[in-house]
Amino acid sequence: MKLLEDRIKRDGTVLPGDVLKVDNFLNHQVDPQLMYEMGGEFKRLFENEGVTRILTVESSGIAPALMAGLKMNVPVVFARKHRSLTLTDNLYTARVYSYTKQVNNDISIDKRFIDPDDKILIIDDFLANGQAVEGMLEICKAAQVDVVGVGVVIEKRFQKGHQLVLDAGIHLEALASIASLANNQVTFASDTDK
Ligand code: 5GP
Repeated sequence: MKLLEDRIKRDGTVLPGDVLKVDNFLNHQVDPQLMYEMGGEFKRLFENEGVTRILTVESSGIAPALMAGLKMNVPVVFARKHRSLTLTDNLYTARVYSYTKQVNNDISIDKRFIDPDDKILIIDDFLANGQAVEGMLEICKAAQVDVVGVGVVIEKRFQKGHQLVLDAGIHLEALASIASLANNQVTFASDTDK
């Protein structure tokens, strides 16, 4: 998605450890207009999958997932990282190692917000080593629901998550695909494909 690639080129900075910092439009400050455009792109990419519900994980997945849900007219549920008093025991839970924070989080979804007939689209901000997506897949497996796609805003294709999702036979789409962050430079897969 050109709009997103241009924004990454303009505002993204590369941090040590192959981390791309995009906190002025995605991970801290959020650009609603860009999120809205991305929602439309997710709709276009997954139009034929019969999606009934979108699943994401708090907090940075919520903005793009919400806009995709708006465009696709389906509910959005986000897995929570912290147990809340209002979350009861009726939960699906998975353990996820956070790439950027280097801690384990237990993510949970109330069983009421996932239905056996659902066709789930998983959306997240980044796909790196695939731990967050794996956790959501684990929850979907426990709930015995179909996952019809994984959509991420930015994938770092050189890390493990990309292949992991493909190996699971799941339709994967990334709005921006990064081939390398070597030498503090963002190289998009679309540039290397040329
Ligand atoms: P994974 O579980 O695929 O290894 O990592 C996914 C999660 O880690 C994303 O939800 C995102 O919050 C965070 N993450 C991974 N790589 C990056 C990165 O390069 N930049 C930022 N800002 N977050 C990242």
